Amino acid sequence: MSDLTMTIAGQAQTSKETFPVLNPANAQVIAEAPECTPELLDAAVTSAHEAHESWLADPAARSSVLMDISATVESNLDELAARITEEQGKPLHEAKDELSGAISDLRYYAELNLPVDTVADTDDLMVQVLRRPMGVIAAITPWNFPLGTAMSKLAPALAAGCTVVLKPSPYTPLSSLRFGELIREVLPPGVLNIVSGSDYLGSLMTGHPLVRMISFTGSVATGKNIAVSAAADLKRVLLELGGNDPAIVLDDADIDATADGVFANAFANCGQICVAIKRVYAPRAIYGQLVDALADRARSARLGDGRAPGIDIGPLCNPAQRDRITELVGDALQSGIKVAVGGAVTDGPGYFYEPTVLAGLNGDERIVVEEQFGPALPIIEYSDISEAITQANDSHYGLGASVWTSDPERGRTLAPQVESGTVWVNTHQSGVPGQPFGGLKWSGIGVEGGPWGMLAYTELQAIHTNKV
Ligand code: NAD
Repeated sequence: MSDLTMTIAGQAQTSKETFPVLNPANAQVIAEAPECTPELLDAAVTSAHEAHESWLADPAARSSVLMDISATVESNLDELAARITEEQGKPLHEAKDELSGAISDLRYYAELNLPVDTVADTDDLMVQVLRRPMGVIAAITPWNFPLGTAMSKLAPALAAGCTVVLKPSPYTPLSSLRFGELIREVLPPGVLNIVSGSDYLGSLMTGHPLVRMISFTGSVATGKNIAVSAAADLKRVLLELGGNDPAIVLDDADIDATADGVFANAFANCGQICVAIKRVYAPRAIYGQLVDALADRARSARLGDGRAPGIDIGPLCNPAQRDRITELVGDALQSGIKVAVGGAVTDGPGYFYEPTVLAGLNGDERIVVEEQFGPALPIIEYSDISEAITQANDSHYGLGASVWTSDPERGRTLAPQVESGTVWVNTHQSGVPGQPFGGLKWSGIGVEGGPWGMLAYTELQAIHTNKV
């Protein structure tokens, strides 16, 4: 049993209260994590507040600290990846990819400076626009990419001159706590505090008077609660919320290449990705072939404990998520929808669910309309492309979408018609450094990634100087 500690004011911190963390592959308790008390949270936020002034004063030091953090993550990658897999369930190679993305984020933001824009510079006056860091950031993360999501917040926030209190999900606190232990020596005390605890701890963070901004990734329901809580003090919010990404397959698409791409982007991390493909629209002419090709890939995917070699799909992260998939697939089956493959939980301990492909849907079933966040993919037939785009857009969500075609130019022309923060052509989820990522409609407010992701942690300040 591990006894990982929180990081508060640069020090290791335990708590009298703890909560169990389970391995989703076998439902065994792997550790007790500290439950941060309101007093300890107050100490964490206060230390972040006190550290802010000197942290914002030295951009060169910030850059070098971010590089040091990236080096620490890199040299401890195997240990951190193993912890992610153990608490979250994803195959080890996916956990390593998550950490490689985190390292890229740290290095990208280590090299980015806040811009100063000169709006006017004449004999009489100068007007410049600066970006002021917000101050103390409450960073609250979900369980699907524990360290990937943490770093997508910490890297730009710290680079911008903010200080941070991070709270991971109670399902996956261990990798973040261990990360805090590893980088304690690298950061000035108070600049980054890492606390663990329940949803209630999150609500205490969003209500704390010294927090100036909440950077949240998680469900739409919690995002709305956070926006309400933030309103009382007009705290700024960055909300990265759920998605229900459509893949729109055109009639000229290559079936095998499309099935490979769609399958990989629907079932990675057992479908538990905000920006996974969650519904597929396929034209009548190739509908049956595409369903068969996706079902073949689901049949041959190796399901198992993510720590074992050769595993493609791990368990769902927690029993609530497995129950949700069971409920949504059950609802579709009750309305007479056909299972092309899968459709059941597997025997034994752990929260496994068979990779599932559903065919013959109308498009109004719950599993099409709601975010399933798991390994069950509905395929909807369409007869003309405008109908498919209308159905794709008929959603409260607007995170990602993709168009699949043998003619990339045709895909690129259609892309702006789709209402989502990103539209990919012949891929999904890919990104390059400098690319923004965020959601329209209920999928969020603001973006992460690129220079915009750092500016999100700042406010504009105009300096207007009369020279005479
Ligand atoms: P969740 O909203 O239940 O919890 C996320 C975090 O918020 C956890 O740390 C939790 O303890 C905390 N929390 C819960 N209630 C709170 C409250 N009232 N105040 C403050 N904090 C609170 O989400 P989840 O189930 O952990 O994650 C799954 C969801 O996250 C899915 O909807 C998924 O699409 C979304 N997600 C979005 C993105 C994105 O970038 N858009 C990325 C990953 C996941």
